Amino acid sequence: MKLIFLGPPGAGKGTQAAGVSAHLGVPHISTGDMFRSAIKNQTPTGIEAKKYLDAGELVPDSVTIAMVKERLSMDDAKNGYLLDGFPRTVDQAIALDAIDAPDAVVDIDVPDERLLSRLTGRRVCGKCQGTFHISKLADEHTCPVCGGEVYQRADDKPETIATRLKAYHDQTEPLIGYYSGLGKLRRVDVASLASVDGDSRPEDVFKAILASLE
Ligand code: AMP
Repeated sequence: MKLIFLGPPGAGKGTQAAGVSAHLGVPHISTGDMFRSAIKNQTPTGIEAKKYLDAGELVPDSVTIAMVKERLSMDDAKNGYLLDGFPRTVDQAIALDAIDAPDAVVDIDVPDERLLSRLTGRRVCGKCQGTFHISKLADEHTCPVCGGEVYQRADDKPETIATRLKAYHDQTEPLIGYYSGLGKLRRVDVASLASVDGDSRPEDVFKAILASLE
């Protein structure tokens, strides 16, 4: 199956993509992770992308599309993929349709007011790449899964979050209409799944995603 996860930053795309890709047996391809790894390794793509990630802006389509095209040509993507964070513009979606069109697009819909606290409280493990909310960590520096050191992403600071949310609304949200017009959109309304503490539980979102694909 060829699948896209659409949704604002902080919707939980990365967390859900890890579980759903394992369930479906397709590779989880996160363009954000690919850019962060390219920056760490100081590749030409990383050097070009760094200023955009630091500012919370989108990396130009030409750079992003070339990177994804190369990744989708690898053997493990022959029988499907789960793209997380791509496409983020209509031009990227049109390019993907020409490279290897998706079967379905899951829109993980979370209201803006929930995103700010999710993003400012987000911590990532430097070792296993797991993502956690700070309120759920017994020790705010240690990964509860592998014991690695957790850190806050540089673009999860409030000033950058505002730019990222604006980029989402201006450039990525139009994809909802694009894929809906193609009959490929599945919507998962996370607010309707909220449990007693006011936020949704990851396992409930996981079930709703699988149900949306049936
Ligand atoms: P993410 O981890 O998906 O939140 O992405 C982090 C950052 O990587 C974004 O704020 C952008 O700067 C960049 N990025 C990731 N995916 C894309 C994309 N499809 N198009 C342009 N920039 C992207």
